[in-house]
Amino acid sequence: MKPHKQYDIAFVGLKSGKHEFDYDIDDSFFAEYGTPDFSNSRLHIRLLFEKQNRFFLLKFEITGQVTVNCDRCGDPFTMPVWDEFKLVVKLVEDPGTTQEEDPDVIYISSNESLLNVADWIYEFASLSIPMQRVHPDKDRGVSGCNQKALDMLKGMQEKGKTTNNPIWKDLEKFKNN
Ligand SMILES: [Zn+2]
Repeated sequence: MKPHKQYDIAFVGLKSGKHEFDYDIDDSFFAEYGTPDFSNSRLHIRLLFEKQNRFFLLKFEITGQVTVNCDRCGDPFTMPVWDEFKLVVKLVEDPGTTQEEDPDVIYISSNESLLNVADWIYEFASLSIPMQRVHPDKDRGVSGCNQKALDMLKGMQEKGKTTNNPIWKDLEKFKNN
């Protein structure tokens, strides 16, 4: 895919120390990577970038909301999103031969002058959206689900027609991933 220029950090020109970058992403950002299984995403990414001599510390703080379909009743609802992720980027002579087990350490060549953070934003934003999506309970533990839909599902289960229900298809998809 085409690299997003607005996600380039020209680190050579930055002073040592802490910097902050802010990004707002929505469904169009995710669509460049594939078909998202949510909609109406409004996510804010606050990137804290600390420049040191031979490495950078990156912290991505993700906040916002997405609309997802409930795993239990199938109705859409708005889910808040909050998460944070850290990365270390090290500058080395030859990143191809540098090995480290830690997946949170990234090596780039010391000849580079730009760091593109779009793929990390995509990865971390995707991870910040919970896999389990069920309506939050209302007061006193009452399910927030669409009761009509649940009753209908129950009726279909009793008739043994569950295989035609889209929710089960989604579950199959999930298992195959
Ligand atoms: Zn529900």
